[in-house]
Amino acid sequence: MADQPKAPVGYNDTPFIPGSKYRVHDSDRPQPAIVTPGEHGSPPSDAVVLFDGTSLAAWQSVKGGAAGWKVENGYMEVVPKSGDIRTEQEFGDCQLHVEWAAPADVKGDSQGRGNSGVFMMGRYEIQVLDCYDNPTYADGTAAAIYGEFPPLVNACRKPGEWQVYDIIWTAPRFNGAQLAAPAYLTMLFNGVLVHNHQALIGPTSHRRVVPWEAHPPVGPLRLQDHNNPMRFRNIWYRALTAE
Ligand code: MG
Repeated sequence: MADQPKAPVGYNDTPFIPGSKYRVHDSDRPQPAIVTPGEHGSPPSDAVVLFDGTSLAAWQSVKGGAAGWKVENGYMEVVPKSGDIRTEQEFGDCQLHVEWAAPADVKGDSQGRGNSGVFMMGRYEIQVLDCYDNPTYADGTAAAIYGEFPPLVNACRKPGEWQVYDIIWTAPRFNGAQLAAPAYLTMLFNGVLVHNHQALIGPTSHRRVVPWEAHPPVGPLRLQDHNNPMRFRNIWYRALTAE
């Protein structure tokens, strides 16, 4: 039987794509790398795993020394007053996955209920808060860029249930001491878009607006101890720039 004619896998007689060294449908353009996706939120094959549920080996206290949070049953839990923790690993542009849960036993209200935070590069807080039937200021809602932008919607699950942050982060760029480009955040909260390429105003503070301050192109992931026994699991990232 005669071979079927093969479909073309590219062209070399097409115009160049503006701004690119490749032609439209160029057969010489490198193939995208193959990545095996994870099942049900587990890390894809090229992820850097920061917490797999067994150990805080990748973490340390922001105050110095070992991370003071506890690990049990596949999650880490804030030990109130032990302080924020941070990764030893530092990174910039990334896709970051974090899961968290607030205590099922609801205590406190507003910013006092189920508060923690995911600090990108150690400086820029994505708020973690039990926002299920818990009014608070909008820019302090769960998934808010704290003090800057509320999430587009409140997609918070009930306390005790696992919540998922999927973050696409573009680090700010600096020219010496000057800001060249702000940080940008795109984010899904429990699969729902809550920020769409949102430019940040500056680093996080409380009751203040703080100007940009130049810092290295990479920084740690930091998690906040806000005196509530918040839980985290399944933390991983994929670097989006080679630096
Ligand atoms: Mg917080």
